[in-house]
Amino acid sequence: MVANQQSQRVAVIPGDGIGVEVAEVGVNVLRAISERFGFKLDFDWLPLGASHYLETGETLTDEMFDYLKNECDAIYFGAMGDPRVPDMKHAKDILLGLRFKLDLFVNLRPITLMHPEMTPLKRRGMKDLEFVIFRENTEGLYVGMGGNFKKGTPDEIAINEMVNTRRGVERIIRAAFEWAKSHHKPRVCMSDKANVLSYAHGLWQRVFKEVSSEYPEIQTRHLYADVMAMEMVRAPQDFDVIVTSNMFGDILSDLGAELVGGLGLAASANLHPGRVSLFEPVHGSAPDIAGQGVANPLAMVLTGSLMLTALGHKEAALFLDQCVQQVLTQGEVTADLRRSLGQSTEGALNTQAVGEALIQIIKS
Ligand code: ATP
Repeated sequence: MVANQQSQRVAVIPGDGIGVEVAEVGVNVLRAISERFGFKLDFDWLPLGASHYLETGETLTDEMFDYLKNECDAIYFGAMGDPRVPDMKHAKDILLGLRFKLDLFVNLRPITLMHPEMTPLKRRGMKDLEFVIFRENTEGLYVGMGGNFKKGTPDEIAINEMVNTRRGVERIIRAAFEWAKSHHKPRVCMSDKANVLSYAHGLWQRVFKEVSSEYPEIQTRHLYADVMAMEMVRAPQDFDVIVTSNMFGDILSDLGAELVGGLGLAASANLHPGRVSLFEPVHGSAPDIAGQGVANPLAMVLTGSLMLTALGHKEAALFLDQCVQQVLTQGEVTADLRRSLGQSTEGALNTQAVGEALIQIIKS
């Protein structure tokens, strides 16, 4: 999508728990950025979430899905999960529903150190921790195929199927190579567990080899997922782009998030290039801290930056990232980041105050 003078419509789904708190800050920050850069974003707040589900029984209606798909340019999503809905029915219908129905096959998770002291790794600085994870987002163990037999008895059998299609594997691997090429990143590493999952991840190995032959300028590497976890800690500077399956991507990207400051800074994009895409922080609704005003809004803000890039506002996105770096440097952060820095949480800012500090920087 290319930015133009017309406004772009962003559907905002704050969701539940801290999702609501961080979405408010995220939208205020995006408003400030769009004013500074002279483009227009039209935010449409949608009530989808646990309260709406409990009141109406609705999760994601066909009408709502059509609206999001056909009339919005992007979806800015907070988080979903609420103790009042223990089976997470609404979250599964809405978030997984959107991922699958919009066929958002790329889950892009940048791992970027934005402040030199935010990493728990010794002797590692900002230039050592700058890579992206391409997590396959529509297949693998997340398709919900399987079942129980003789449930609740000593003979119980529980099965979850892992689905890998040639088409699905090829498109995520190709997306990773295309991203590396367009961002002038020379290395792509694929991670699987083909030594155990010989059929499923044997397919990943074959497709990776085939697709990589089309990108001779890019260096390729393969690591089993367990070794990948070790290498991300031991030598993170060796990675530019990591591509992997749904489950391993989930786990490795949480590890990556901790290497650069934790969930409070971890952003993600669910993409299908050329289609309306969904942007959400990696963290969930965090019911333990919801309603206290202590949630870190920066993951949501950095998620907004990914959305700006996808909407064609690259320069504004880069500027927003710099403003986040400045707020970190100034120490105007929530308690979680103070803990990451080994500092006392006394004097930590609340969610809104971090947003206000950021907006002041944007406007200065
Ligand atoms: P869900 O089931 O919705 O994923 P969860 O509590 O299991 O929720 P997360 O929401 O990802 O998982 O959070 C894990 C923990 O990390 C939370 O309990 C919270 O203390 C902390 N956390 C997550 N996000 C933030 C944030 N933005 N700011 C501060 N702390 C956070």
